Amino acid sequence: MSALRSVILAAADSPRLQRFVRRYGFQLGAARFVAGETLDAAVPVLRRLNDQGLLTNTTLLGEGVRDEAETRAVVEAYRGVLDRIEAESLRTNVALKLTHLGLSIDEELAQRNVAELVKHAARLGNFVRIDMEESSHVDATLRIYRRLRESGHQNVGTVLQSYLFRTEEDLAALLPLAPNLRLVKGAYLEPPEIAYPDKGDVDAAYVRLLETSLSSDGFTAVATHDETLIEHTISFAREHGIAKERFQFQMLYGVRPRLQLDLVRRGFDVLVATPYGPEWYRYLMRRLAERPANVLFFLRSVVRG
Ligand SMILES: Cc1cc2nc3c(=O)[nH]c(=O)nc-3n(C[C@H](O)[C@H](O)[C@H](O)COP(=O)(O)OP(=O)(O)OC[C@H]3O[C@@H](n4cnc5c(N)ncnc54)[C@H](O)[C@@H]3O)c2cc1C
Repeated sequence: MSALRSVILAAADSPRLQRFVRRYGFQLGAARFVAGETLDAAVPVLRRLNDQGLLTNTTLLGEGVRDEAETRAVVEAYRGVLDRIEAESLRTNVALKLTHLGLSIDEELAQRNVAELVKHAARLGNFVRIDMEESSHVDATLRIYRRLRESGHQNVGTVLQSYLFRTEEDLAALLPLAPNLRLVKGAYLEPPEIAYPDKGDVDAAYVRLLETSLSSDGFTAVATHDETLIEHTISFAREHGIAKERFQFQMLYGVRPRLQLDLVRRGFDVLVATPYGPEWYRYLMRRLAERPANVLFFLRSVVRG
């Protein structure tokens, strides 16, 4: 992991930095990565992406919640999002974080909340992706995903992070479920005891996960902006006769938009993860950490603004 990346992720906890960025951030920097502060603002963005041939998912930004009542409000908000997607005929599904649904309070609470949303999505013919968060949540997230699948829900997927040493075993354990998995490199600050510190190792692990997942039953969402990995996916799929319907590319709103459209033109499914909501601070900080050049872009906008 680059030193700058660790510094940005660690600095994200500073209250002073938070105050500064929250005050100046949305119009100046965050709007590049976030579709708006409200669902009403996000809908036209999702429609525009759909009109360009891109699939989308959306997320109501937010992660830590304090009590059960707060998680109820998040569940109600997501029910509203799913209903709105249906009403607007958007090609959009939902990606959510279990800590937003109460995972840090009680695993059963998060399980009940996500099950309610998965059922609601199923009634509407839609799909729910459970994002992967810090390593301390991986076991519970995979348990919840497994319980959902074992109780018959098909319209749910989760995420595996290639920077964690454990992930190849996690993938092997999930394969009998014919899982729907998004593969990512990993966006959090993790210690070298459990995660590869070197980018080369993270990338090599990604290739191994990708090849195993594509060669197995299930669906693989290749979530990366890394062109080498994208081209590797395409040639691996071609060489092994893996149908285009068995995988899709996923990228973040505001990152590599031309590459997204190029892949659509080449006939691949591309989904753009397009979050919204007033709680955009931590999401923005992870995007800045992934590419420290983004910090310069952000600071330049603040100075110009
Ligand atoms: C759809 C999607 C969902 C994700 N979900 C999760 C999740 O649930 N849990 C999790 O831990 N992580 C998640 N991530 C984040 C992921 O773990 C990485 O942090 C992120 O994708 C950057 O890694 P990369 O694969 O793009 O490769 P990198 O090697 O980091 O980047 C490759 C190239 O992409 C470009 N790039 C990458 N990031 C940015 C950026 N922020 N701004 C501008 N250019 C950039 C740069 O040109 C860079 O050279 C998700 C990513 C995507 C695309």
